[in-house]
Amino acid sequence: MDPDSLTVLRRRSAVIANRPMALGAFELELSRAHLDFKAGAEIVIHGQEQYEDRIYSLANGERDPTLRLLIRLIPGGVTTPRLAKLVPGDAVEFTGPTGSFLLRNDDRPIWFIATGTGIAPLRSFVRTVPHLRPVVLHGVRQAEELYYRDELEPHCSAYYPCVSRDPKSPQRVTTRLPSLRIPTDATFYLCGSQPMIHDVTKILAAHNIPADQIVAEPYFFW
Ligand SMILES: Cc1cc2nc3c(=O)[nH]c(=O)nc-3n(C[C@H](O)[C@H](O)[C@H](O)COP(=O)(O)OP(=O)(O)OC[C@H]3O[C@@H](n4cnc5c(N)ncnc54)[C@H](O)[C@@H]3O)c2cc1C
Repeated sequence: MDPDSLTVLRRRSAVIANRPMALGAFELELSRAHLDFKAGAEIVIHGQEQYEDRIYSLANGERDPTLRLLIRLIPGGVTTPRLAKLVPGDAVEFTGPTGSFLLRNDDRPIWFIATGTGIAPLRSFVRTVPHLRPVVLHGVRQAEELYYRDELEPHCSAYYPCVSRDPKSPQRVTTRLPSLRIPTDATFYLCGSQPMIHDVTKILAAHNIPADQIVAEPYFFW
């Protein structure tokens, strides 16, 4: 089968686990359905109707036996309230892999800057290449949303939690980043809210980071 036909193949998978995470997020573990993918790739989950289709980053490593999605529940949203109710054994259809937010093989130092569930592809990167040693800035509203922190932090050369509603020391990735020594030779992966990606890209440009060293994946726009 040629690779292009693989990407449009609708795969039938099953829920293995649906784990609640902090502040309404949940981690959906799915059977792999023979999916071959590169770290950082996404899949499109299909609902009964086309308007229910939604795209999610894979949070599992390339060689992991199952797929994992880290999903933020959007109250009143079309799809996430339904996904949140899935139980082990339920069928899920998806296509993929898709997306261009892939781990580059360029030997550059890695900086990963995320908001919220945008941390998911970092888990895929680190589980695929454990010696990556990225510098990580994770922006969240509350400390409980620092998803996968315990698992990821030991793999990072530096890990900066940026908690915007921390009563003692509120931080955003956009306030923390300029206080750090930003290397000009790194590749910068930005994932999450579009305003964060916009603002961080401007900060990096002001630090003379070439545009081709910035890889960005906006999850939603406002
Ligand atoms: C490339 C890509 C990868 C993505 N990967 C992930 C992922 O790994 N995990 C994940 O949780 N989401 C991810 N998303 C977002 C996801 O595809 C859906 O948009 C999201 O789950 C909302 O689905 P919904 O049907 O419940 O809400 P909708 O009915 O689509 O939206 C309802 C309202 O909520 C707003 N909204 C939608 N998403 C968000 C959000 N994240 N934060 C705040 N407001 C929002 C919408 O603008 C709309 O006004 C990704 C998006 C893209 C483009």
